[in-house]
Amino acid sequence: MTAKKYVQVVLGLPLDKAFTYSIPDELKETIKIGQRVEVPFGQRLKIGYVVGFLNKTAIKNIKAVKSILDLEPLLDKQMLELTRQVADYYCVGWGEVIEAACPANVRKRKRPIKETPEPILDWQASREKHGQKEIFLSPQQKQALSAITKSIKRKSHQVFLLHGITASGKTEVYLQAIKEVLAQGRSSIVLVPEISLTPQTVERFGSRFGQTVALLHSGLLPSQRARQWRRAKLGQAQIVIGARSAVFAPLKNLGLIVLDDEHENTYKQQDASPHYHAREVAIFRAKLAGATVILGSATPSLESFYSAKQGTIKSLTLPERVTERDLPEVNIVDMRQEVAVRRKRANIFSRALEISIRQVLERREQAILFLNRRGFSTFINCFKCGYVARCKRCNVSLTHHYATKRLICHYCNYQMELPQICPQCNSNYLRYFGLGTEKVESELHRLFPGARIARMDLDTTSKRDAHSKILNSFKERKIDVLVGTQMIAKGLDFPGVSLVGVVSADTALNIPDFRSGERTFDLLTQVAGRAGRGQVHGRVIIQTYVPEHYALVASIKHDYHQFYRQEIKSRKELNLPPFTHIVSLTLRSPQQKKVEDIACDLSARLNKKKLTKDIQVLGPAPASVSKIRGRFHWNVLLKGSSLPRLVKLLRRVVKDYRRYKGVPLKIDVDPI
Ligand code: ADP
Ligand code: ZN
Ligand code: ZN
Repeated sequence: MTAKKYVQVVLGLPLDKAFTYSIPDELKETIKIGQRVEVPFGQRLKIGYVVGFLNKTAIKNIKAVKSILDLEPLLDKQMLELTRQVADYYCVGWGEVIEAACPANVRKRKRPIKETPEPILDWQASREKHGQKEIFLSPQQKQALSAITKSIKRKSHQVFLLHGITASGKTEVYLQAIKEVLAQGRSSIVLVPEISLTPQTVERFGSRFGQTVALLHSGLLPSQRARQWRRAKLGQAQIVIGARSAVFAPLKNLGLIVLDDEHENTYKQQDASPHYHAREVAIFRAKLAGATVILGSATPSLESFYSAKQGTIKSLTLPERVTERDLPEVNIVDMRQEVAVRRKRANIFSRALEISIRQVLERREQAILFLNRRGFSTFINCFKCGYVARCKRCNVSLTHHYATKRLICHYCNYQMELPQICPQCNSNYLRYFGLGTEKVESELHRLFPGARIARMDLDTTSKRDAHSKILNSFKERKIDVLVGTQMIAKGLDFPGVSLVGVVSADTALNIPDFRSGERTFDLLTQVAGRAGRGQVHGRVIIQTYVPEHYALVASIKHDYHQFYRQEIKSRKELNLPPFTHIVSLTLRSPQQKKVEDIACDLSARLNKKKLTKDIQVLGPAPASVSKIRGRFHWNVLLKGSSLPRLVKLLRRVVKDYRRYKGVPLKIDVDPI
């Protein structure tokens, strides 16, 4: 090997560049790409990641690497390449992505680990329980599996969309595809949304594949997480099941990545930089590894379904349920009719829903009442005709700003005066729609004094175990009516539930986000699946002021295709994803004037530096929730058909703003 003189190191910081250090003689033999090293940075020592070597450098007064922290590289060449690509795509620092890819306990450790980790799970019991009963695939499952198996054998990085309603047998297809991958001596990653990482899911994989399964999710203690990670790294586990970040699991020889419920929001890292989407990373990774990707869903994201239509990914369909179970009867209640009857105020419950709840209580069955969001809601709604003030350019509802008495589009900053009467029907039934779970709960107590009622939302489940406590007493039928947010929409299975009421489908439709139709369709489809799981026939009642909305009409018919046709048309007309890329830039500060000024400045700079016409700069505008914890948030949006061009522009402008005058800037590529 040629003499390594200098080493390039990236740090976990939002910086584009690698730093160069000299290598002391005693480290020259052992230093390798992908290792962690300790390097002087400013006044301190920092942990960095070796990404390359140089034979010469023009830098004077170069500092030396202090020590090497790993015997074996933490990241192999493929992981380094992957993290670099992800950093480029999301316009963040390479080191930031590396840090997101490795559990904290692994990357902060100062001494190399020597012992081999023990598996912490015992699958023997569940293996015996589930037995080795053979399952004969349906013709559609066979067809899907054979297309997937072919791709696995070819080692071509093909992406499949497996579109099938709940209980159509998608998971069984994943399981058999994984078996094929194992037979080839290769490994698999199964990603599930955090909320569906239930013991049942895990057990299903564990009982089939035993000790070769490792688990990675946020419910594990940091030390357990590190141990599971190392089992994958050492090749003791060939299958990793986990939430979002498991897409970076250090498996060698990867053959398959599955994303179950690929449309779920939890695949997008919202809380911290890098704001990556696991689907995007999975596809990058599969390309590097020659692996197959399966995106499974009952209600695919518009992006994935569009890609399938375009032929960039391959569509496979499972149209029927493998188990005999009726889809429940779904009724829509037009709340505008209710206002006509019950003049004075907007009622929370329609007559139909009130009567149904009463019947459920009399028959000693159970009901779930569902509201899409907690507490606040800031749109304006006419209780007589259903009118909602919306921005015509952006197809989102306008947000009511109390202080200025104006309605504002938080995408493009379009503004209007708060109308006094309804512009559509001239009535004075225009109100703020402020309906929360708490209000629903108190109204239930008033109408049904004897009923046992519980509420489940972020407020009531902030304590550990609160979540499972509520669900357990509901399961044991110590609760008659459960009121909740999206938390109760997914995956729960209660045989006693014969009624599901959606108190307001409109709260989801009027979230100021262009994906609100998509979210509503998905939620209603899921919610409808909650009723009628047991012996009793299920009923679903959906209350709305806009019964004609296509997302509602399509969801009661369980018709994804109808929904897709309408939705994709409006996305195209308004030039929204998947027809364009969006980058959202958010500035925040306790000083309103300051953040507004900087946002204006940033927007002007972006406008000046953009070289192509196809890039649009929108805003600046106050964020939809413009003040959070005492800080004012302002957004600038970029739209453009080519993401590389957008990122190029960003790199040119953004570095001057990272912490301009102490105001931090958040960059979110493909925001959700
Ligand atoms: P999905 O993932 O689409 O919700 P699952 O794969 O979980 O569907 O299938 C639903 C249920 O039907 C599971 O209990 C599964 O074991 C069973 N199942 C799946 N495929 C078959 C089949 N071909 N024959 C019999 N049972 C099946
Ligand atoms: Zn009206
Ligand atoms: Zn707008």
